[in-house]
Amino acid sequence: MSETIFSKIIRKELPATIVHEDELTLAFHDINPQAPVHILIIPKKPIPTLADVEEDDLHLVTHIHKVAQHLAKALGLEGWKMQVNVGAKGGQEVFHLHYHLLGW
Ligand code: AMP
Repeated sequence: MSETIFSKIIRKELPATIVHEDELTLAFHDINPQAPVHILIIPKKPIPTLADVEEDDLHLVTHIHKVAQHLAKALGLEGWKMQVNVGAKGGQEVFHLHYHLLGW
């Protein structure tokens, strides 16, 4: 797949406000927040969209949900939701799988 801005953030070639990192995922603040807390959670593996997730990748999707639970608790969120935009018509601009964690 082609290089994205998120690949550069994973490699620390571009700055980001990182709030969580482990061997599988990275989470950082969205530069254009749509809620009081707006974090992007991404797998380090460069999967373009949710539609490209294969059986062997399902542990990454599970792990992203666990990271979201962890961050919501750590940040003391009272309510939150996750959103994944799929494809240009679905509002996706960056073609590296990412979950928007929107929190209040
Ligand atoms: P999507 O429209 O679902 O592809 O979401 C892409 C998101 O990435 C948007 O909410 C952007 O504000 C966000 N974004 C783009 N560039 C950066 C960046 N350098 N650091 C943090 N967030 C970014």
